[in-house]
Order: sequence, then structure tokens, then C-alpha cells
Amino acid sequence: MKKIHNFVNGNLSSISKKELPVNDPSTGEEIGKVVMSSIDDFNNVIESSKKSQLEWSNTTPLKRSRILSNYKNLIEKNLNELAEIVSKEHGKTLADAKGSVTRGLEVVEFACGIPHLLKGEFSQNVGTNIDSWSIRQPLGVCAGITPFNFPAMVPMWMYPISIACGNSFILKPSEKDPSCSIRLAELFTEAGLPNGVFNVIHGDKEIVDLILESNEISSVSFVGSTPVAKYIYEKSAKFGKRVQALGGAKNHLIVMPDANIDQAVDGIIGAGYGSAGERCMAISVAVAVGDIADELVGKIQLEAQKLKVAPWTDAESDMGPVISKEHKDKIENYISLGVKEGATLVEDGRNYRIQGYEKGFFVGPTLFDNVTENMKIYKEEIFGPVVCVLRAKNYDEALNLVNNHEFGNGTSIYTSDGEISRHFTTNAKIGMVGVNVPIPVPMAFHSFGGWKQSLFGDHSMHGEEGIRFYTKLKTITSRWPKSIQEGPEFVIPTN
Ligand code: NAD
Repeated sequence: MKKIHNFVNGNLSSISKKELPVNDPSTGEEIGKVVMSSIDDFNNVIESSKKSQLEWSNTTPLKRSRILSNYKNLIEKNLNELAEIVSKEHGKTLADAKGSVTRGLEVVEFACGIPHLLKGEFSQNVGTNIDSWSIRQPLGVCAGITPFNFPAMVPMWMYPISIACGNSFILKPSEKDPSCSIRLAELFTEAGLPNGVFNVIHGDKEIVDLILESNEISSVSFVGSTPVAKYIYEKSAKFGKRVQALGGAKNHLIVMPDANIDQAVDGIIGAGYGSAGERCMAISVAVAVGDIADELVGKIQLEAQKLKVAPWTDAESDMGPVISKEHKDKIENYISLGVKEGATLVEDGRNYRIQGYEKGFFVGPTLFDNVTENMKIYKEEIFGPVVCVLRAKNYDEALNLVNNHEFGNGTSIYTSDGEISRHFTTNAKIGMVGVNVPIPVPMAFHSFGGWKQSLFGDHSMHGEEGIRFYTKLKTITSRWPKSIQEGPEFVIPTN
């Protein structure tokens, strides 16, 4: 049985004997065991991260950039292997896994520009013969805690930028699919990264608490569910850390009567059922405006029935299983609840069986119509292949739904009206907004982050926001003294 160790100081190692099974969600079989680290493991990681950081922060940004550039090449070379590791433990299709690794790779590409990104500001003669400039310096040791649904991409939103800025980074990946982070760390070492600058430690809440409480760690980046994000935010602040904590989502896609309905249906199908709905930017709510609802629901149903639900090893698969038996049960319970709440179940994905994979954690594409604002299946994040259709009389009603929902990650509108589109992008109380695109995930050189209960903290991830998060601002004011002494000044200097 494969054992998944920590990656500390350039080596695979762990002290703890405690382990947790890692499963293949397509078969339900155990395929490995991940170590659940102890306090001794944690102390080893801290020592290594602290030691490496001093030297790394003195390495020139250009040299750091060259190592990142080697890393980029190695990820490209090993893209298939990385994607297979993701698919095997997560269950998503191989094409989707490759796409997600590529989106992570784009952050590495962005971070290669670090000499330019770290350029500060300079003002000559802020006072007579006085110059002033601002620089951004590394924080020290940074930590990242990541969810199961993007085992490569989400960690890569964090560590390439943090490391490019001169920090060392400790990653605590999800215990459900921990292998990819190890391969990513090995490749970084192969690219020339000094040992200890990037360490990976496995574990659950126990290790997370040690991270949050440690005096040696300066910042915490978190992505996961909202209750845990809130906990991370509050506890990190209590222990004096800089923190960004991204939470859950319930993303709405509004379809206006003047939209190209077929394009909107494609958008809903891909973004609703892709990756079995286990994406923080998945479309879980479609809002049909005006009299298009019957046509929209009919077309979504038709397309949902055509989807091929199969393991990642099947190249024709459109969506794979969900992550675990517990998660499958949770999603199926939500579907039963929706029926009880009075929504119309148009497509039922419960008890989905695939021959030869009877123990896999599959849920079929599920579609609800006539969902209303007070239903739990609308209010709560299901995080599975379940799309809820709500019917709105007009645009204002649809916009209110988006703005009144407690989550604020992503949203999108399908319309051919520029005025409505502009009103929506200006007035939606949401962090990432799309027009005629289903999943408005920003590129690496922009920043990713939601509003409301989808993000706690002041900074989104990657792009300029990432550089700001992983550096401290310092402003220097300097005058080279004249030979004549002027005596002390008791009035605040002005110009
Ligand atoms: P999760 O919150 O259960 O776990 C995330 C991480 O926190 C894991 O590393 C886990 O080990 C750790 N953790 C879990 N419970 C903890 C606790 N009580 N105390 C401390 N640490 C704990 O999330 P998940 O199930 O792995 O991922 C799915 C969730 O992540 C969904 O809610 C999804 O919307 C969200 N997500 C959000 C974004 C975003 O950008 N906003 C991106 C991806 C996923």
C-alpha cells in the first residue's frame, strides 16, 4: 500500500505513525495511506522553513525567477503525470485535471515576472534634498491550507507567489487527495529550489491549529468551506497573523429572455455538472427571467441526460464521481430534502450505478425546477452535480436573488443587452462576475476572490493582490547630511 509522507527539507519523511486511508472515488477502494503528522513532524517543518527562509530572502529576485522558470518547464513536461495523480485521488476527468494543473501553471508563469512585480516606488526631493522610496519585503514563513477539489491549482494560487516574494512556504493539503502536492514539491526541488523553502505537511485540524498558533508563521492562506474559513480567519487574527480565507459558494447564472438560450444551456451544463459540481465556481443556481423558463429547463434536462458519467480512465467521461461516500450521502440527502421542500425534481441523480464501479461514489446529474428563496437546497452549498432553477419575473428580481444570497463568489449573466450587462457588472455584490461566460475565473495576472461569506480577509489570491498579501510594505525617507549643522526641529516637517 502506497504511503504518503510529508515533504520536509527536500526529503520524504514523517515521524508520526498515525495514518488515514486515501481512496479512489471511482472504485471506492483504498489506494494509499497518508500520514497524520504529529507535533514532532510540525516542529521539523518549522525548523526547516525558518532556516531556509533567511538565505532565500537574500537570493536576488532574478535568481528566484530563473528557478521558477525551470519549475514552469518541469510542470509542463510532467503535466500528464500530475493530472493523472489528481484524477486518481479526486476522480475528475483527465482533461479537466489537466486544465486545472494548467491554471496553476499560469500562476508560476506570472510569478516568473517577480523582479518586475517587486519594483518599488521612488520619489526624489520629497523635501529639500530628501528622497523617499517604498519597498516590499517578504513576510517570513507563510502557510497554506487547501481543499480537496483542486489539489494542484489551489495550492498553486499560493506558494509560487509567496516563494517568488522571498518567503518560505508550508503547505497543508487536503488529506483526501494529498499526493499531487508532494509531486509538485519534488519538481520544485528538481528545478533548483533550495531545500526547506517549500515544505508539505499532511494532517487535519490538529496540524491546522498548530499552524494558526505558531509564532514562527507570519501568514495563513486558506481555501475551503465557509465555517472553516471563518474559524481560520478569527483564530489567525487572534494569533497576530496576516490572513486570507476563501470559503464556499452558491453561484447564480442569470438567463435573460434576450439571451442565446443554447449558449446559456451549454454554460449551465458545463459549469453545473463539470467536475461533478465540486468547483467553488460551479454554477449551482440558474435564474430564468421572464417567460423562457420552460424552454430553458427542457433544454437543460435534455443535455443533462446526454452526459456520460464515468471514471477518469474513460476518455469519453464528462463527469466522474464525488470525493467520498460521506459526500455522496450528503448530496443525496440534499436531493431528498429538495423534494420534501416542494421543488420539482426534473432529473434525479440518486442511486447512480455504473457497471463494474458499483462501489464508486457516483451521483448523476440532478436538476430541480421551481426552487424558491426559502428552501435549504437554495440557501446552502451542496457541492455536487445539482442545479437549481429559480424563476424570476424580471431582471430586478434576478439581481436581488444574487445580491441577497449570503455567498458572493461568482455569478454570470447571459444577455444580448449591453445596458443590462453593464448594470449587472456594476451592481452585483459578488467578487467575480461574468457576461456570457459561465465560470468567470480570473487569470493568474488578475486576482481570484469572492465577497460576503465567500472570503474573509482583505486580499484575494494571486495577481497584484497576491504580491501585496505576501509582502510587507516599508517606506524609507533619506537625507545625506550637509556639513553645516541645522539644530533640532520641533515642528513636523512640511513642504
Ligand atoms: P474543508 O473546509 O472541509 O477543508 C479545507 C481544508 O481545511 C483541508 O485542508 C482540511 O484538512 C482543513 N480542515 C477541515 N476541517 C477543519 C477544521 N474543523 N479545522 C481546521 N481545518 C480543517 O473543505 P473541502 O471539503 O476540502 O473543500 C470544499 C470546500 O472548499 C467547498 O465549500 C468549496 O466551495 C470550497 N472552495 C472554495 C474555493 C474558493 O476559492 N472560494 C475554492 C475551492 C474550494
